[in-house]
Amino acid sequence: MKKILIALLGALILSSCAKDKSADLIIHNAQVYTVNENFDVATAFAVRDGKFIAVGSDEEILADYESANVINLDGAPLYPGFIDGHAHFYRYGLGLKNANLVGTKSFEEILEILQDHRKEYPNDPWILGGGWDQNDWENKEFPTKDKLNEIFPDVPVLITRVDGHAALTNSAAMNQSELFFKTQEVNGGKIYFDKNGDPTGLLVDNAIQLISRYIPEQTQTDRIDALLKAQKNCFAVGLTTIVDAGLDVNTINLIDSLNQTGDLKMRLYVMVTPTQESIDYFKAKGKIKTDYLNVRSFKVYGDGALGSRGANLIADYSDDPGNSGFLLQTPEFYDELARTFKDMGFQMNTHAIGDSTSKTILDIYSRYLPEGNDLRWKVEHAQIVSLEDLPKFGQFNIIPSVQPTHATSDMYWAGDRLGEPRVKTAYTFKDLLDQNGNIALGSDFPVEDINPLFGFHSAVARQDAENWPEGGWQAENKLSREEALRGMTIWAAYSNFEEKERGSIEIGKFADFVVTEKDIMTAAESELRNTKVTTTYVAGKRVY
Ligand SMILES: [Zn+2]
Repeated sequence: MKKILIALLGALILSSCAKDKSADLIIHNAQVYTVNENFDVATAFAVRDGKFIAVGSDEEILADYESANVINLDGAPLYPGFIDGHAHFYRYGLGLKNANLVGTKSFEEILEILQDHRKEYPNDPWILGGGWDQNDWENKEFPTKDKLNEIFPDVPVLITRVDGHAALTNSAAMNQSELFFKTQEVNGGKIYFDKNGDPTGLLVDNAIQLISRYIPEQTQTDRIDALLKAQKNCFAVGLTTIVDAGLDVNTINLIDSLNQTGDLKMRLYVMVTPTQESIDYFKAKGKIKTDYLNVRSFKVYGDGALGSRGANLIADYSDDPGNSGFLLQTPEFYDELARTFKDMGFQMNTHAIGDSTSKTILDIYSRYLPEGNDLRWKVEHAQIVSLEDLPKFGQFNIIPSVQPTHATSDMYWAGDRLGEPRVKTAYTFKDLLDQNGNIALGSDFPVEDINPLFGFHSAVARQDAENWPEGGWQAENKLSREEALRGMTIWAAYSNFEEKERGSIEIGKFADFVVTEKDIMTAAESELRNTKVTTTYVAGKRVY
């Protein structure tokens, strides 16, 4: 008996030694930006069971580990998988089927695209599209329904502005909504009327729902298709974790089931859209946490957008006296939500663009966040924050979740809306970072492009794709490259309570990583946007 035991022990020790050396994957001869605490650069690592098991030099890793899968990267740069701290992954996927109006230069161009789109999908019950921005047109007036009615007298049309906070519709769509003509005033929204009192077809914020709720439901096949198409495109730009800023219970459960079948490998941190139904659901169910899905937060809308003058400002718009925008709900409503989420142990994330909204939300948060708390409540966008409200982020450990490309998309007209010196309190990413020592970076796609390197470029250069303006817009709020890379990896992970499992290349974390052609830490600023991702890995498996 003793002999057998000794033999058994010997075998166990042998097998564990042999197992210690085995890796599923070894990468060496790479420029590995680990994004650990010291921002160390390594050249090699080993992966087993989807996690990093060793990180170091080529000599160390090649001596200590062996694998059937050893890759020499010839010095290529490698980073932790990119994280988008605020996006609309599912909505982006659904939109891939809609008419893409991003970058259109006139309303006439939109009409042409819609006609082509109709030829491609002649049987769809509605024509949907999005991405237009009248600020990019020669004629910057909002368009009206008339031309849409001429071309599409019978098919309902709804085309949203690039920020999703305004939309144009036609009479065929409006005729489906009996409510529409009786409703002149919309809480938290606006219907535009012409001189005769007819709706022009332009809707802002909550008014859009008067029409959008008549869009027929997606089929299950369409929904799955949307998620898988979105995943494919996002892997191709190096994203391995995405924060989806607002989904319903059905979609969350669909994602969970696609994770379980292995079809969906994009890691998602999902904010729940707070309806009474979803709040009750998660009160009963509690948080969801798997390797691929994390649900423990709600997304609340405080106001609209700056472009459509829906952002709620403390003082009037500089280019629209008498108008200071509006809160979408009353402060009491937001306060009640804060109390509910605090009781549930869920994170509260509130969309706040205008400085008045930032103030209202920061003050409500401060009532529920004790000093030294680790609840990580976030202000989404934190786009305009007055100087006196800025320190509240540090005081109550509130995380700013910002989108650098919004700064470089809005810089052409933000000064018109806000005027000097108020515009200096907008898109203050460096000031926001300084409050807490962290900031989460995202894109808000499909409002902006899905490519996180566009955001990286905007954050460090404060310039557009044409490298304008020279020296960068409001350059005092540039982030360093190290800060920007942390913002789209470890700090974004922190804002998701996931900094112990991802966001850096360290032992024990998920082996999610990205390789690029050029080195984004050293390439010329003008090369950052067109730097190509060559490979993306999730859990040690190549996904792009
Ligand atoms: Zn958003």
